[in-house]
Amino acid sequence: MRTSFVDEVCPPDDKDYSVPGMKCPKCGGKVLITHDVVDGLDFGFSVSCCRFCHYDGIHGTTFNAPEKDCYAIHYLNSKEECIKKWEQRVKYLKEKEKNELGGKLNE
Ligand SMILES: [Zn+2]
Repeated sequence: MRTSFVDEVCPPDDKDYSVPGMKCPKCGGKVLITHDVVDGLDFGFSVSCCRFCHYDGIHGTTFNAPEKDCYAIHYLNSKEECIKKWEQRVKYLKEKEKNELGGKLNE
């Protein structure tokens, strides 16, 4: 027991901060928002598609994909920031995909 550290360590937070109706544009999966506390250390909030993983073949990423191209964002400060950053990420990824698919048509 390390009760003497109780004021310093962050208590576990298993609450589901997800917003009902928020869906991944790529696969339609639920968008999860969680508060990541590991062994009393607070890693902030994360937002990600519940189905997202690098090799799932749906989201178009591998372990080499830059973090900004992933359907997951970590180390955020709040649920509100998660929602905002997710919307920005989705917009960015949609435009990226559009440019990659339709880039040649504009030449
Ligand atoms: Zn997804």
